[in-house]
This record gives sequence, structure tokens and C-alpha cells, in this order.
Amino acid sequence: MAYLTKSSFNKLVRKVSISAFIKSKEDFVSQIYDDGELYYFFNRLDLSELLKRKLLLSSENHNESSIKVFQTVKIKIDNKKYIFFKGGKPKYHLYKNCSSLDKDFKDFLIPDEIRKAELIDELRNWFNQNNFTADTQQDLLVFRFNSYFPIKYKEKGIKPIQGFLIEENKNSGKTYVADYFDNLNFKQELDVLKSQRKRIYGVALNIDKIPSSILNVISKFDYLSQKNETDEIVQKLTEVLGRDFTDFINEYPDDTFENGFFKPKGINRIILYLKKHYEIKHKAYRLLSDFLMWNYGLLDKQFNEVFLEDFNFECCKFCKEKRDRISIEELFS
Ligand SMILES: [Zn+2]
Repeated sequence: MAYLTKSSFNKLVRKVSISAFIKSKEDFVSQIYDDGELYYFFNRLDLSELLKRKLLLSSENHNESSIKVFQTVKIKIDNKKYIFFKGGKPKYHLYKNCSSLDKDFKDFLIPDEIRKAELIDELRNWFNQNNFTADTQQDLLVFRFNSYFPIKYKEKGIKPIQGFLIEENKNSGKTYVADYFDNLNFKQELDVLKSQRKRIYGVALNIDKIPSSILNVISKFDYLSQKNETDEIVQKLTEVLGRDFTDFINEYPDDTFENGFFKPKGINRIILYLKKHYEIKHKAYRLLSDFLMWNYGLLDKQFNEVFLEDFNFECCKFCKEKRDRISIEELFS
């Protein structure tokens, strides 16, 4: 049986499809979270992703008919950006105390001169042969690098360096899900988001004069605000809303000043609302997703290895070595 980190679990969620779906406020309350108001935050896709999280974590047998293989997880290619990260398949772990489970992403960037001189493999090998890791002291690295590379590869233009740039992401989601969940804080944050959503709705309705018939529908299309093309947004919303939408856009064709206040034209009022809604919805989604991971215990969840391998996951190399070692020891005991 295998364990997953948050980020690997997120990859899995994106790649499975389910036949069940949430079609009402009541479904949301019984399946996801006991607060019906939150149901209105989300569109069909969001609701389906939340349900997938719950089903993956709560069902004992992942091969059951409600979850089927949709698409294998993409294998990351080596973009030659980092010293240690060389791409590959997402990993699962066999042991909860595996050291790479709770590691934040930390790596050295390959210096530009090394890239230009086509010495990437040489540098990676050098790190490997010297057993340097992402935690090795910069002083030592710089000293050792400068007493080797600029001398050996002088003609290739390699000069002494001051240090390696580190890329570190503490919130990459790579870390394991916390074993403590702050329920009070979770509820307070949801309350804040609910009141923010009411507020932006009120502003859009009363100040920006967007009719409720439009507002109630466009919330489900808030992902459009992530597109840069206004034409694309107009096209999609015209398709969905028809006359109501074109009438509103035509009513406010230009930016204006009213009583000293700036009033954006129709489409920009819509885009502004979509952006704010998306931001609030996104935060609520993250909170609920964390809640589900905690509530159904991603920390202790044991996934079937074969199921994960169907999705292109592979066993982490430290865990694999450990398992091989244990089985050899057992053989001789
Ligand atoms: Zn491992």
C-alpha cells in the first residue's frame, strides 16, 4: 500500500473521472460540507473536483466503478532548470517516515554560464559525485566549485561564482497534510469569504448596476476572468445569456465619471466582478479541499500501488531501496 503527498494527490484528482456528481445544495451538504451557502460558490467542474477528492479518500477500493481511469498523469520533462530535479513521474511512498515526504521543494538553479557552455551534465555529475545536496552549505559549494570549474573550463568562459541561486517553495503543496486541523480558524475563514461574496454581489448590483439575472449566471463562469482576451469572454457570455448580456454591455459602452467616481464600461464591470468572484471561490475551494484531506485522513490513507501505477505514478526511490533492503534482511534472518 502506498502514501501520497498533497501535491501528488492533487495530480491524481485532476486525472480521475467519476460518474457520480453533485446536482443540488442537498447533495453538497451531505457529500462535501454541512453549509449549503457554499454550494453557490462553485460551478459544475469545481463541485466534481471536490467530490472526486472525497471519493478517492473515503472509498476503500479505488477500482470500484465510481472512479475510473480517465487519463494518465503527465510525466514532467527535464527542463534543465535545476541541479537535482530532472523531471519524471509523480511519486508514491511506501513508508510514512520517508524523508522525502515532508521535504519542501528546494533546489539550485543551473547558472546561465553553465547552460551556455553546455556543461549541465558535468555540473550535475559533479554534485552527485561529491554527494552535495540542496542542504549543502553555500560556502563549501562555492569554494569547491571555484577551485574546479573555472580552472578546468576556462576556455568555455566559466568564471568564479559568488553562490548558487536557490529556489525554495515552502507552499508548493509538496508537504504532507498537517495532522492537526484548526477547525475554528477554518470556519472563520469560510465566514469571511461568505461575507466577501455577499459584498461584491451587492456592489455589482447596486453600484455597477449589473442586473441580478446576469450576476446569478456569470458566477459559474468566473474562470473566464483568467483569460486575457475580452472578445473570448464576450463571446462565451453572449452565448449563455443572449440579449440580457448584450443589452447591458451596450448600455455602458464607455468608461465615465459619475459624481467624481470612476465607472468602468459594461464589459469591464463584468470582468471585475468575475475576477473578484474567482478569487473568493478559489480560496473557498482550497479551504474545503484541505478540510477533506484532513477529514478523510490523507495522512494515513493507503492507496493501492497498482491503482496509482495505472496513473503513471512510480515508487519513490528511497522507499523502494528500503523495501528491497528489508526483504533481503528477511531472507537471511
Ligand atoms: Zn519515499
